Amino acid sequence: MSEIRKHYFLFEYCIIAEERTKRPSDFVDEAESLAKHSPVSCSFCGGAEEDTPLATAVYKNGKIFADTPEKRILNWDFRCFPNIYPVLSPVPDPLENQEIDLHSEPGYGFHEVIIESPLHGRRLEDFSDLEITGLMNVYRTRTCNYMTQGRILYVLPIHKFWESRRSFNGSLSQSAYCPSILSSSTRKGNESY
Ligand SMILES: [Zn+2]
Repeated sequence: MSEIRKHYFLFEYCIIAEERTKRPSDFVDEAESLAKHSPVSCSFCGGAEEDTPLATAVYKNGKIFADTPEKRILNWDFRCFPNIYPVLSPVPDPLENQEIDLHSEPGYGFHEVIIESPLHGRRLEDFSDLEITGLMNVYRTRTCNYMTQGRILYVLPIHKFWESRRSFNGSLSQSAYCPSILSSSTRKGNESY
């Protein structure tokens, strides 16, 4: 469970997400070699769509699709799916043992992963102008999508070239869609998503 907690004195909020401690801590420094990783075992490359949750938005040839349990969209340009260790949930657990005078609420919101290329090891700086334009359109349309789902007022996008000890190397983003404006300390803390 997670919660959105207000600062005692300031009009700032942060996310407390204990479940995030359960995720694999498998990300390493970007400077390490890419050569030791094989795209054959990568869960996020094109062709490995069955290894992730169902994609809620798949961008392909200028159109937006979505996976179904019966069919995963292949040959995509960008692919979005829910984070399996979310900081926020559209159906959050109720708070337990809330402290007196502490303003907090269940961690309602969304936490999404955006795979920015189906190609293993591809970096943002290698993107063509067309790919960058396409990616900006993904950010725009995903934000519009969540802003229409009620109570979402703030989007926290985190972009990074991720390198995993286990499998994934590539360009991806994670976005949290929140009902509150987060504090600067939360934004800084989320660099370790
Ligand atoms: Zn890959």
